[in-house]
Amino acid sequence: MRGAVIHAPGDVRFETLEDPRILTPTDAIIRTTVTCVCGSDLWPYRGLEPIGAPHPMGHEYVGVVEEVGSEVTNVKPGQFVVGSFATSDNTCANCRNGYQSSCLHREFMSTCQAEYVRIPNAHGTLVATDGHPADEFLPGLLAVSDVMGTGWWAAEAAEVKPGSTAVVVGDGAVGLCGVIAAKEFGAERIIAMSRHEPRQKLALEFGATDIVTERGEEGVARINELTGGIGADSVLECVGTAQAMQQALRSARPGGNVGFVGVPHEVAVDGQELFFSHVGLRGGPAPVRRYLPDLIDRVLTGRIDPGKVFDLTLPLDQVAEGYQAMDERRAVKTLLKP
Ligand SMILES: [Zn+2]
Repeated sequence: MRGAVIHAPGDVRFETLEDPRILTPTDAIIRTTVTCVCGSDLWPYRGLEPIGAPHPMGHEYVGVVEEVGSEVTNVKPGQFVVGSFATSDNTCANCRNGYQSSCLHREFMSTCQAEYVRIPNAHGTLVATDGHPADEFLPGLLAVSDVMGTGWWAAEAAEVKPGSTAVVVGDGAVGLCGVIAAKEFGAERIIAMSRHEPRQKLALEFGATDIVTERGEEGVARINELTGGIGADSVLECVGTAQAMQQALRSARPGGNVGFVGVPHEVAVDGQELFFSHVGLRGGPAPVRRYLPDLIDRVLTGRIDPGKVFDLTLPLDQVAEGYQAMDERRAVKTLLKP
């Protein structure tokens, strides 16, 4: 089979790879229907995360089951399945507590920009749809496997409540999905921070009520102005930089909550500032598995359409261009078709 391999910053190639095989009885092999490039794939691509030896890439996927190990009974060959970027047995203590992305047997997916993928913990990770979904739903279902699930987690972690005010920091795919989630959670006012016109439009389409283009101290001042001088009830931090985290913490009101779901890079939180802010802080990798049945249903019934975050579709063999377009911010998110 063929798939994407990163060799060095800026150097992603489409290469022939060994076909994945069942390694343990809880594995499955799927044929990838669609996959994509994640904002977090840009960290190594930009040289901001070590790469080491050349390795495959990708952690978002939907596909058709080809083969299952002997202990996989929840899905069978031929079924269309959605999974999560973090695999889980869905039975251990952390899974039962709803934190499947901290499963005691967790393995992170890392080989999904390929024609076939081995899914560890397939018995607890994969959810089959009723029949094969129509093509129009594929981008939305793919989004559910990561960015939509992560936006949902941001809203949950930030404790968005009906009638509340939510601020979304970050206008990438996760931030835009965070707007969808805040709306579904019932936020009355959703303030999206974005300076990029096409992304502002999509945020408004997804339910944002206000756009703030300012950043840093000016951004904080603007949020204060819009929230009666105290800050927002909930802030969804969907970037992972020090600046975004500071923006988020300073945009929440005393007693408010920040959900941080951007993988932090050189983020440090000032203990004294956090103490006196009275702001609650919770984050981490999204427990997507817990949300899958609900989010799949919301997509297939047309209630939400997170697939709109994909603004570039390429054949998988042009994966290198997919990375480049996102790196240069010509695309929010690239969908890849094997
Ligand atoms: Zn578990």
